[in-house]
Amino acid sequence: MNFSKNAFFVPFWDFLCSIWDVLMPRKCAVCGQVIDGRTLVCESCLSQVMYTDFALLPSNPIEQKLHRLTGTPLQAMALCVYTHEGFAGRVVEAFKYHHRCDLALWAGELVGEELSKAERWKGYDYIIPIPLHPSREKERGYNQAMQMCKGIVHKYPIEINEALERCSRTTAQAHLGRSERWENAEGIFSLKESCHTLVGKRVIIVDDVLTTGATMASAVKVLREAGVKQIAVATLATGE
Ligand SMILES: [Zn+2]
Repeated sequence: MNFSKNAFFVPFWDFLCSIWDVLMPRKCAVCGQVIDGRTLVCESCLSQVMYTDFALLPSNPIEQKLHRLTGTPLQAMALCVYTHEGFAGRVVEAFKYHHRCDLALWAGELVGEELSKAERWKGYDYIIPIPLHPSREKERGYNQAMQMCKGIVHKYPIEINEALERCSRTTAQAHLGRSERWENAEGIFSLKESCHTLVGKRVIIVDDVLTTGATMASAVKVLREAGVKQIAVATLATGE
């Protein structure tokens, strides 16, 4: 039985949702104001997002930074600028620490929309989420980068390939200084034995935030050694 097409079920479902909205009013994930409808972030907060337009911009600052760090020419984008108290800071905090995996999926859709607009993002074979250590993923209940990948493919059709695994449980990068982040990220990833061959492929690595680039550089190194032909990077935010 297909409930989504059932003439009785759809209005009944809408009715249940409206009762739920009265009992448990939906709040904007950024400012906490009560919002109408089924959106996650209010119009006012969305209008203040500091978009980078890096998806459309070759040789943008994060491409240059990652090229310097890895010695590999990379295509890279981050949807917006990260500030702790701003849009990206609040959204990332909610999906990392307050079980809002719906926000990670939605953030992925925003990134996917951006990728789908630009000619230079065409022709990639896979998107690869930056993995969490299995024990951290178990605590959180999901990997936010994987949720973002699921959102991305809604808007930018591409196969998800969970090619990387995290071999050691590291201290959360947010608690560390710049040089400590580099030491912390050294050699943390390896290639999953079960992953599809990556030789000659073009892949996009997905993560929530790009800061020093240490985590990303570590992932790039493993993929380059696996024979990947071209590596790109897509994140929700960059900064701090
Ligand atoms: Zn808001």
